[in-house]
Amino acid sequence: MQKKRIAIFGSTGSIGTQALDVIRVNSDLFEAEILTAQTNDELLIKQALEFNPNAVVIGDEKKYETVKQALSSTNIKVFTGEQALEEVADFDSYDMMLAAIVGFAGLKPTLKAVEKGKAIGLANKETLVVAGDIVMQKAIEKRAPIIPVDSEHSAIFQCLVGEGRNPIEKIILTASGGPFLGKKPNFLVNVKRDHALQHPNWSMGAKITVDSATLMNKGLEMIEAKWLFNLKPEQIQVVVHPQSIIHSMVQFEDGSIKAQMGLPDMKLPIQYAMAFPTRIKNDFPRYDMRRFSSLTFEEPDVKTFRNLALATEALYKNGNMPCILNAANEIAVWAFLRNRIGFLDITAVVEKTMQNVSYIEQPTLDEYFESDGEARNFAASLIKL
Ligand code: NAD
Ligand code: MG
Repeated sequence: MQKKRIAIFGSTGSIGTQALDVIRVNSDLFEAEILTAQTNDELLIKQALEFNPNAVVIGDEKKYETVKQALSSTNIKVFTGEQALEEVADFDSYDMMLAAIVGFAGLKPTLKAVEKGKAIGLANKETLVVAGDIVMQKAIEKRAPIIPVDSEHSAIFQCLVGEGRNPIEKIILTASGGPFLGKKPNFLVNVKRDHALQHPNWSMGAKITVDSATLMNKGLEMIEAKWLFNLKPEQIQVVVHPQSIIHSMVQFEDGSIKAQMGLPDMKLPIQYAMAFPTRIKNDFPRYDMRRFSSLTFEEPDVKTFRNLALATEALYKNGNMPCILNAANEIAVWAFLRNRIGFLDITAVVEKTMQNVSYIEQPTLDEYFESDGEARNFAASLIKL
């Protein structure tokens, strides 16, 4: 059997490195064809020397010479710059893109892979939040399968296997609640970067970890789910489940609910997407019901964690509103991670930006890019960046 050639966009990140862990132990099934990183040249070089891909991209042009030099005794092609991501996404030589870049930056290369009809293992939720209509339409047109990597969406996807055309009544997205579950604004006002970066159940990149603490992550996931599973906003429900054992659920028209469960480990949805429809045997720790006997559920506190309310508003408004929300959030989280604004300011920046950038009901791709830029500028002006 031919090995599946995987192009990992964002190979030095949390998802990217875990995808390489999966490839390492399943080298009979997969090989790394393309690896890309933005700034971490050292790790990219190390990965390239181990996995011997056809090509690598280092986004930061200042690092190009170092990477080129380090790989000079190999046949690995080295590219640099933002444009190069789209160029390598246009290669014929890979079978699946693992879209693991963080943020809006993942949109263009992912869209390029979709246009080529490639299979996508989608971790980069922002791609669908920003331009879900265009991406999904293209995917249908080009028959490019989009297989979710985000754990909740992988859970839903797994629940739908074998269901044919049975309609979904609703989906129930589970949220851990993050490190500040149960806290109130008087506590949150003093929260700092390092505190927000400690997630109870998952170890992830900095941006998504902050998004999990503010509940923006769950909001982005509602929008992601809408596009992936062709749902109406009313069909998407969020429930806080602090143990993160049930990764999400689907309720069908007969009232039956299917859940996908397991210990929280991103390698599982990553390997599921890479090997779909096959399940690969692994030795990850197993969930033992006798040891974690209580699974609990509660309503999210949207009065305190207003980002979730704002994202729900964007979900219902549609058009370029999710794009505006996402851009403002990226700027605000960036500033929070540099201790330039407080935790609650993130919500204020997102809210003001949503109120100020002009709404477009059915944006073109160019208009999404313009809205993203406009929202970033507005959000940055609020923070005085
Ligand atoms: P991360 O910050 O750990 O890694 C991001 C990767 O993207 C790195 O390889 C980095 O070099 C690259 N990158 C960053 N900025 C870039 C830019 N401007 N241009 C090109 N490349 C750039 O992030 P992560 O936690 O691995 O998350 C990646 C994506 O997966 C995000 O969209 C996140 O929401 C999603 N996701 C992550 C997890 C998780 O457990 N980490 C779970 C679900 C979904
Ligand atoms: Mg998730």
